[in-house]
Amino acid sequence: MAFLGLIKRVSRISRNNSRVRVYSARHFQSRDLSNSSFGDTKLPVLIVGAGPVGLVLSILLTKLGVKCAVVDKSTSFSKHPQAHFINNRSMEIFRKLDGLAGEIERSQPPVDLWRKFIYCTSLSGSTLGTVDHMQPQDYEKVVSPASVAHFSQYKLTSLMLKRLKDLGFSVQSSKEWDGLDSVVAGKILMGHECVAIDADKESVTATVAFFKGGKRVERNIQCGLLVGADGAGSVVRRLTKVEMRGERDLQKLISVHFMSRELGEYLINNRPGMLFFIFNTGGIGVLVAHDLLQGEFVLQIPFYPPQQSLSDFSPEMCKMLIFNLVGHELSDLDVADIKPWVMHAEVAEKFMCCENRVILAGDAAHRFPPAGGFGMNTGIQDAHNLAWKIAALVQGSAKSSILNTYETERRPIALFNTSLSIQNFRAAMSVPAALGLDPTIANSVHRFINKTVGSILPTGLQKAILDNVFALGRAQLSESVLNESNPLGHQRLSRLKSIFEGGKSLQLQFPAEDLGFRYLEGAIVTDNESGAGDLEAPSGRRRDYVPCAEPGLRLPHMYVKVLSDSTREDIVSTLDLVSVDKVEFLLIISPLQESYELARATLKVAKEFKANVKVCVIWPSSCNDGAVRESKSALAPWDYVVDVMEVKEQSGEEASWWSICKMSERGSILVRPDEHIAWSMKSSVPLDPTLHMRDVFTIILGKQ
Ligand SMILES: Cc1cc2nc3c(=O)[nH]c(=O)nc-3n(C[C@H](O)[C@H](O)[C@H](O)COP(=O)(O)OP(=O)(O)OC[C@H]3O[C@@H](n4cnc5c(N)ncnc54)[C@H](O)[C@@H]3O)c2cc1C
Repeated sequence: MAFLGLIKRVSRISRNNSRVRVYSARHFQSRDLSNSSFGDTKLPVLIVGAGPVGLVLSILLTKLGVKCAVVDKSTSFSKHPQAHFINNRSMEIFRKLDGLAGEIERSQPPVDLWRKFIYCTSLSGSTLGTVDHMQPQDYEKVVSPASVAHFSQYKLTSLMLKRLKDLGFSVQSSKEWDGLDSVVAGKILMGHECVAIDADKESVTATVAFFKGGKRVERNIQCGLLVGADGAGSVVRRLTKVEMRGERDLQKLISVHFMSRELGEYLINNRPGMLFFIFNTGGIGVLVAHDLLQGEFVLQIPFYPPQQSLSDFSPEMCKMLIFNLVGHELSDLDVADIKPWVMHAEVAEKFMCCENRVILAGDAAHRFPPAGGFGMNTGIQDAHNLAWKIAALVQGSAKSSILNTYETERRPIALFNTSLSIQNFRAAMSVPAALGLDPTIANSVHRFINKTVGSILPTGLQKAILDNVFALGRAQLSESVLNESNPLGHQRLSRLKSIFEGGKSLQLQFPAEDLGFRYLEGAIVTDNESGAGDLEAPSGRRRDYVPCAEPGLRLPHMYVKVLSDSTREDIVSTLDLVSVDKVEFLLIISPLQESYELARATLKVAKEFKANVKVCVIWPSSCNDGAVRESKSALAPWDYVVDVMEVKEQSGEEASWWSICKMSERGSILVRPDEHIAWSMKSSVPLDPTLHMRDVFTIILGKQ
């Protein structure tokens, strides 16, 4: 802290009530931060933003033994449903958070109520097409121990809060702060807005503003690292001057959250689905059925400001629009919330700044069109990638360079998912385009009006022009045009049919990307035998996941029987062998002499690095009980070992562990604490295991 006085702040700019501090280049010269105060500050990590990403990061860090606190500018948690599709990989992460995945599975509506997307002229009118997005492998738990889920974001947030409370966290409002208590670790401070960030050699100080007794008060919170999980409009990103790159303003929408059990019941009985794309002469909208059983919905309506304003979407207006899209009135319709939002497809130019003391995660680092449900899922996986790296740094087994690998690994995934989301968004737009309602034309008309008459005509008149143009467009949807006997209608309906049958409309499931995303460089070791290569470009179509154990990939799943660890359940997934409660690597080998030698060398090297390694010995299912020996004696004096045996169905025809991994039994796999493969050798052990594993840990943990 003695250095504090020497720090030169070049400028301080005031903008929107937030202070921006800019630093001299000298201030952030390359230094190894692992010797500075990550673990020593009272608070190793401050998370800005209590959205799903901030909350999941706080759970993961706490489980790994890293103290953290969360601040959020809102005084209460949002009840607007927003995200609802949780992919396989996120569910695998949630499986390890004290039964979170199980609770989601039990609380979500049954899959038959949400497996389809339905295209129609109204919810009680004719159906233009139906697409079923679930295939048996999506819930048979063959490639993953978890299934995808459909569960509203605010419900997920409240289950995460429950976990945090069980871990000792408390939610505190600004009213509850007595002005003296400086201990923030283990707290979620609501109503606290981050307004300034000041980083120096030793720590980061966040200034948070809140209201107490009607007065705006500021308070400084010092921490070792600050994670900006403060959403798409991230203030942390703005304060640190990190730019977004990509496409802006793809679409503006109004989101209407409403309840109607009557509508829920009607759809359950007539046409259950998750998304309803409704096109008629009176309006266009996408209805998201968040929970048909509870009658909870969100309607997304295109929004064209400045001709339209939020006040045009009063609850009464929204009700009329909903009745029109439903096709009849609903006696119990209750509009809960109406809010505008803008769709972008952008990724931050960097995920780290202030010499790695400030890190961006979730929507703060990337914002996608919601097509395919990648936003929250990508953010949750950011947190999973980051948590163990922060813990390894704070606990002293890694150098600060490990944090660089967060950006090296996650940014390409964010860029990839942005492309995929754009492709999927365009696929969604192909349906209205086929109906003669090309949204790009509507957007061009809107831009044209803004550029031409926008500055001359009064807004009311501009609005009337826009409404008339859109009404003319929607006239294409009239029954007299859109029917098989009208040549134009016939042509459009045939085009629609071919889009649906060819799988060219909006897709929901991307197993190859959800489970098979790969880090090509970072805290992984690739060699000639398993060179990382390039990411396959997104196709916008569903591709199945093919398991493989090359570095950078997630460890394949297989059920195994635990033979030598009485604390574990009998049958677990290979993913369960990776600990969530400590930073621990997992070395998977066969019960072969040379593999045991590799394991001994790995354990010895790990000790030098102050890293934890557990050895998992996989016995083939063909082994009879007599042939299985405990591996402890073979590894003595080390005893960090678990023996497991492959579990196969009765038919026994499924592939063995090593063939699932595309390896031979002489191979070996080193798995990181986030279940991604750090290093693997397909069919042999290194000639000098100690030397080799020392190099491997140096690359992963950043030691010289
Ligand atoms: C209509 C729609 C549907 C979607 N559907 C899906 C889906 O099915 N699946 C999916 O994966 N994703 C989906 N998404 C995206 C998903 O909602 C976001 O990706 C997700 O909310 C991002 O989470 P986050 O924690 O990064 O940010 P947020 O959820 O935005 O949370 C950020 C938090 O930071 C707080 N904050 C902001 N500024 C400050 C500050 N200065 N100080 C303190 N706190 C601050 C905010 O109050 C907020 O609580 C959808 C999005 C939309 C709009």
